[in-house]
Amino acid sequence: MNLRGVAVAVVGMARSGVAAVEFLREKGADVWAVDQNPVEIPGITVLAQLDESLAKAEWIVLSPGVPADMDIVESARRRGARVIGDVELASWFLEGPIIGITGSNGKTTTTALTGHILQASGIPVQVGGNIGTPPASMVAASRPGQWNVLELSSFQLETVETLRPRVGAALNLTPDHLDRHYTMTRYAAAKGRLFANQTETDFAVLNADDAFCVAYAGGRGHAVWFSSTRKVAPGAFLQHGEILLDGQELMQASEVPLLGVHNLENTMAAAAITHLAGASHAQIRDAVMTFPGVEHRLEFVCEADGVAWYNDSKATNVDATLKAISAFDGKLWIILGGKDKNTDYTPLAAPLRVKAHAALLIGAAAEKIASHLKGAAPLIACGTLEIAVCEARARANPGDRVLLAPACASFDQFENFEHRGREFKRLVKDGASKPLLRKGSNG
Ligand code: ADP
Repeated sequence: MNLRGVAVAVVGMARSGVAAVEFLREKGADVWAVDQNPVEIPGITVLAQLDESLAKAEWIVLSPGVPADMDIVESARRRGARVIGDVELASWFLEGPIIGITGSNGKTTTTALTGHILQASGIPVQVGGNIGTPPASMVAASRPGQWNVLELSSFQLETVETLRPRVGAALNLTPDHLDRHYTMTRYAAAKGRLFANQTETDFAVLNADDAFCVAYAGGRGHAVWFSSTRKVAPGAFLQHGEILLDGQELMQASEVPLLGVHNLENTMAAAAITHLAGASHAQIRDAVMTFPGVEHRLEFVCEADGVAWYNDSKATNVDATLKAISAFDGKLWIILGGKDKNTDYTPLAAPLRVKAHAALLIGAAAEKIASHLKGAAPLIACGTLEIAVCEARARANPGDRVLLAPACASFDQFENFEHRGREFKRLVKDGASKPLLRKGSNG
């Protein structure tokens, strides 16, 4: 693809956008940037997000967080501009086969685990996309025979034209981002772009327990399955506490260092993917056992005064929170709340009734959550994360667990979920270093 002299506007100047500008410039394109905020980036012309800023663009490259149906993008498209995402752009130049991983939840964990297994198995690999290195920055280090593992969001897949992963994986599809995609059908279609260009030499690794994922099996790539509930072939499944891969024992579920059935699903997906890329059963098992996990995903923080603390700040939707709850057999103090995403919290009521001592509510969504959970468990209005941590510490007894899995976005009180998770860990560790005054669980 020759980009020399092509007029390209890159919309959205976060890390991926900046990487795309630099990449396009190296390729000789006439490139400038557009952002909704007046950002200043040395060496890059950043224009305001207005129609006229895109007037001269032949191509428009969208950063991962930018809606493809934004007004100014739609009108540029109508006058003939070609609109693509940063991943599509990078895919034209990446050497080596692509592994693309998508889903509503578990993308980062599965992508990191896939990279970890390939690396530990001595199979050349680089990891990027939504996680770590922006796609455009992966091009320089890419080479034939080296796998490019990409974590892909529905936003990035929406504008895919030619991206063709050797292995594409769909982990699950639950209502999230409906504010952006409007209906599950449109959301599913956006993610389905991952498989649209596959041919007979490619593979689609799909969750056999998820109806939306099963529907992706109609493409030309070969379906390879994973399931936590039933036998599948070819692929990976869980049976009597054991994971089998292509009919052969892979490992005991208890050997997987991550908590919860959802993480067994992620592990089976990664096992199926890496097996297709050449990793053996023994290599996969050894690598899974040394996987350190990903920060803010059901991350064990510490044990203090007999109470175990877990940080799942990344649980920004109800499904992820349900999965986090299901990883524990009870004795939970759960911190919920933050910025509401037009969410129905009532599915949390049943498991909390069984497993929670109480829910500690924080942030803007607290009242709505309280009204959806009424009667399911005692509710403690805390307002802030700091108060929630103090309350949990004062009330929890030895053997209890405190879990931050808020089912909400973080933007009402924090910069992002990472900031929320880091604050949580800091508060927990600060608290643990001070003397404890217990209130008793009814206090
Ligand atoms: P993503 O990158 O898709 O957001 P993460 O690996 O960052 O996925 O996990 C996001 C949240 O979802 C975390 O709270 C995590 O504990 C939870 N989670 C991880 N894997 C799954 C899964 N397979 N199904 C449901 N929830 C999951």
